Amino acid sequence: MAINDAGERLKALDARHHLHPFTDFKQLGEQGSRIITGASGVYIHDADGQRILDGMAGLWCVNLGYDQPELVAAASQQMTQLPYYNTFFKTAHPPAIELAAELCRLAPEHINHVFFTGSGSEANDSMLRMVRRFWALKGKPEKQWIIARENGYHGSTVAGMSLGGMAPMHAQGGPCVPGITHIRQPYWFAEGRGKGSESPESDTHSRDDFGRLCAEALDARIQELGPDNVAAFLAEPVQGAGGAIMPPDSYWPAIKAVLAKYDILLVVDEVICGFGRLGEWFGSQHYDLKPDLMPIAKGLSSGYLPIGGVLVGDRVADTLIEEGGEFFHGFTYSGHPVCAAVALKTLEIMQREDIVTRVRDDLGPYLASRWATLADHPLVGEARSLGLMGALELVADKASGERFATSLAVGNLCRDICFETGLVMRSVGDTMIISPPLVITHEQIDALVSLARAALDETARQLA
Ligand code: PLP
Repeated sequence: MAINDAGERLKALDARHHLHPFTDFKQLGEQGSRIITGASGVYIHDADGQRILDGMAGLWCVNLGYDQPELVAAASQQMTQLPYYNTFFKTAHPPAIELAAELCRLAPEHINHVFFTGSGSEANDSMLRMVRRFWALKGKPEKQWIIARENGYHGSTVAGMSLGGMAPMHAQGGPCVPGITHIRQPYWFAEGRGKGSESPESDTHSRDDFGRLCAEALDARIQELGPDNVAAFLAEPVQGAGGAIMPPDSYWPAIKAVLAKYDILLVVDEVICGFGRLGEWFGSQHYDLKPDLMPIAKGLSSGYLPIGGVLVGDRVADTLIEEGGEFFHGFTYSGHPVCAAVALKTLEIMQREDIVTRVRDDLGPYLASRWATLADHPLVGEARSLGLMGALELVADKASGERFATSLAVGNLCRDICFETGLVMRSVGDTMIISPPLVITHEQIDALVSLARAALDETARQLA
């Protein structure tokens, strides 16, 4: 069968039988999907024979690129040795044990335990249960509230979507988990810039004023709920799925100062930012945070197999261990041996090839310098990046920063043009985001930026 016939057959079957995540099922049925049949390095290949630079590392996860033979060998070897056993009821196996030890060696000093899950959503579910259990064991069962952020993303299970602050997700599928509340996000471009301030002399406030204002929202919510009722504050170091939102420099220090006033746990969701994305092993280290718990997933196995977990700091772990008795929680695939073996190999390769330092000292600054050149494009209101994560804010009017009408779906238009011209760049509303594999080269960053500029030109042409 010719490539195109095979592709058409798959598209038809896909439309008939397959319900995709985060997809308008009907629209997909009408338009058909893009079938990805292979990949190598930082490129994916589709059934039409097109090669596409994957500016998103899959879903922020394929950090080592698509053809890392050592990960394949690690999976294969472990499949032969022990394809499955669980970690319930006092059993364990070498890959889960070795991975737990290695993760704790790499994590900040106060973190010495990990609970394994199959995904980032399950990691956040597990975190929620641990946080509430911790406070119950401390004799403070009224400490139930989790304060998270609007437009944050923490997964798609019921607890994950409840912890997340994505309004369209909350609107579907019934009541959220109780005891979770959201405060404003430190999204300067969307909510800070030009939106007025407390100061009557000025109608704009600086980025840093805005960062502090967002941290004050945490203090205000804690006061409102009563500090004795608040269990934890949960946030991503940089909001990923919300639009690669790097907070103003003032934000995290101000949040830390608020938390220092109260006895409230800090949970930093490292599912995207962990494992080198921001140029440190964990995003928390970039912002000098000392989280009590850190949900992890994605880059842990470079996306090759599903695995996640919660890194648990000593304060919580010691209480759960010493006072907790049996923890009635876990997953069939918690610490799956093949996934754990691949994760362990991922960590080994990252250290051997010094990938985290390379992102911090070389690739991140190089991307920043190249990405910033897109700021001169008429459609771009802001170009920002940190480590190997970047965003472009598309605007109708460059001077005022005014957005396009939502009905024009300009971000999706640009995303589709990117795909056609050979680049995966994701859209979140009219924010275009990238998060390429951490093994991308300078030349490939140049190619990415050229493809992005060409897609912006074509978007502008189609809008004219
Ligand atoms: N937390 C964050 C910050 C994420 O970005 C994601 C996924 O994108 C999740 C949690 C959920 O992870 P998963 O899709 O593996 O359940």
